[in-house]
Amino acid sequence: MAKLYFNYSSMNAGKSTLLLQASYNYQERGMSTLLFTAALDDRTKIGEIASRIGLKSDAMIFDEATDMFQTIKAEKDSRPLDAVLVDEAQFLDEKQVWQLAHVADRLGMPVMCYGLRTDFQGKLFPGSAALLAIADNIREVRTICWCGRKATMVARLDENGRIVEEGDQVVIGGEDTYTSLCRNHWSRRMLGPDDCVPTPSVPIVEPVGES
Ligand SMILES: [Zn+2]
Repeated sequence: MAKLYFNYSSMNAGKSTLLLQASYNYQERGMSTLLFTAALDDRTKIGEIASRIGLKSDAMIFDEATDMFQTIKAEKDSRPLDAVLVDEAQFLDEKQVWQLAHVADRLGMPVMCYGLRTDFQGKLFPGSAALLAIADNIREVRTICWCGRKATMVARLDENGRIVEEGDQVVIGGEDTYTSLCRNHWSRRMLGPDDCVPTPSVPIVEPVGES
């Protein structure tokens, strides 16, 4: 029984490194892999997965129009293929996650997805929500906050290094960067021990009541 896997993390947890390492492990055993990553712009059809420690590999790209099942099946019909690895899996939609489940169930090929669980506002990405719902195997890739606790949240920073509170879930080609924080420091908007940001007057995390 081939499985659908979801390895999730906050930013900077080295998930691309893990993906490339998993792909390498297959190749080392004489098996073939197919890698996907999200389209970061619409000009190129060739993607690349790169890790911070220098590993990289070419990858096919997916966007909202990609039928993951048909694309993978066509590839499997044309060459030996043993496993599929998907980076930036948070950008899949629910339908595409089901297509990947069909790859595991109907083509008998394991599919390993790597992605972020939540966006900078603490909301699940669509792909991550679907994967958390239906993946066979769910694993957290751990990273730590500056305080040493487990980082489970992502903050978006503007060009001055200040936390961004609002905006689109996905900013293609933006100048913003991201950092990983524990829930405590994420909700208090603290990027370091000396970062005494006053508690905002409007709650950010808790839903605002109707009253
Ligand atoms: Zn912390």
